[in-house]
Amino acid sequence: MFHSSYIEISKSALQNNIAFIKQLIGQQVQFSSVIKGNAYGHGIEQFTSIAQESGVDHFSVFSADEAQRVLQTVSAPTTIMIMGYIDNQELEWAVAHGIEFYVFEMSRLEEAAGVAKRIGKRTRIHLELETGMNRTGFEGETLARAEAALEKHKDFLELKGLCTHFAGAESIQNHDRVMAQQEKFQQLTQRLQRKGHIPVQRHTACSAAMVAYPHTHMDMVRIGIMQYGFWPSPETYGQYMAQQQDKTDPLRRLINWKSRVMSLKTVQHGEYIGYGTSYQAPRKMTLAIVPVGYSWGYSRSLSNVGNVLIKGMRASVVGIVNMNVMMVDVTDIPGVAKDEEVVLLGRQGNESITVASFGELSTQLNYELLTRLPVNIPRIIVA
Ligand SMILES: *Cc1c(COP(=O)(O)O)cnc(C)c1O
Repeated sequence: MFHSSYIEISKSALQNNIAFIKQLIGQQVQFSSVIKGNAYGHGIEQFTSIAQESGVDHFSVFSADEAQRVLQTVSAPTTIMIMGYIDNQELEWAVAHGIEFYVFEMSRLEEAAGVAKRIGKRTRIHLELETGMNRTGFEGETLARAEAALEKHKDFLELKGLCTHFAGAESIQNHDRVMAQQEKFQQLTQRLQRKGHIPVQRHTACSAAMVAYPHTHMDMVRIGIMQYGFWPSPETYGQYMAQQQDKTDPLRRLINWKSRVMSLKTVQHGEYIGYGTSYQAPRKMTLAIVPVGYSWGYSRSLSNVGNVLIKGMRASVVGIVNMNVMMVDVTDIPGVAKDEEVVLLGRQGNESITVASFGELSTQLNYELLTRLPVNIPRIIVA
């Protein structure tokens, strides 16, 4: 292994999570696997391949470059949907390869129709509706123009979907806003349908909405964070668990980020450890030097705070996290040797380091911490 750390991705954990999600949505609802942000840090190629082997046939990405990576990885027939950015050159590529994409402004609608006409291939678009997020989507006058354009270009544009995105379904605080969004979505959908614009799929739900607002499932759900084994927020988790007899978490995390002990050192009582004077040994100590630092995404803010697992026990980070190494206290863990496995994130024995504790005590940061795991750490698929 020519690397100081690596990330294991568990296929059985993914299969567990997919089974749970499918049980929540039932047979009739399409499950779209959201893999933007390098599959939330899991690695698009590795994640897509195990997802496909686990029966997933619909992937949602943010941009055309991600769509291309999925297309290169999958073998069976698969739907790929771009929810965000495509430039004009990529649009032609997308249409040619049957990639579906969101349309949220007139210029894209016209360009899509133009490309479809030019290359003679009907394009499947998802018309995004503005329902209250105030980010992207058609509403009011722009929607009227979109309707006219759909009519005009109906030989070249297929209305595959109508969709919107909620402004924070993971927080009960946003309950009224989310409900109003779904209501507005229904109204706009009906308006379009009355004019003969009937979508194949209506979709609004992300993970949190899937759990908290079952009436948003409709024809398809777009699930990111939960397929990776994380809840969108402690509130969503609490809300789900409150209704269950069995209080064990039904989700399993896929990620284990691991390294090895590079070297061991004994320091005497009173010595300072590492740069500066932030940590002074309160006793004679044994330190393990781990070859991971902030350049590998192990935050400097975890200096003197973070924990890792060695021999199934917690070892705390002592001193400042360096660019490429950190020191951990193994004084009370007997028998630690060079090359011993170190878990930075994930499970070892009965202990685990969660993303939340790895960052701060808010699960909201799961999304950010996962996607910030550097792309150049190797991802390895394990059972
Ligand atoms: C990221 C994203 C999702 C998935 O959200 P999760 O909370 O990770 O399930 C769904 N829809 C859109 C438009 C997104 O950008």
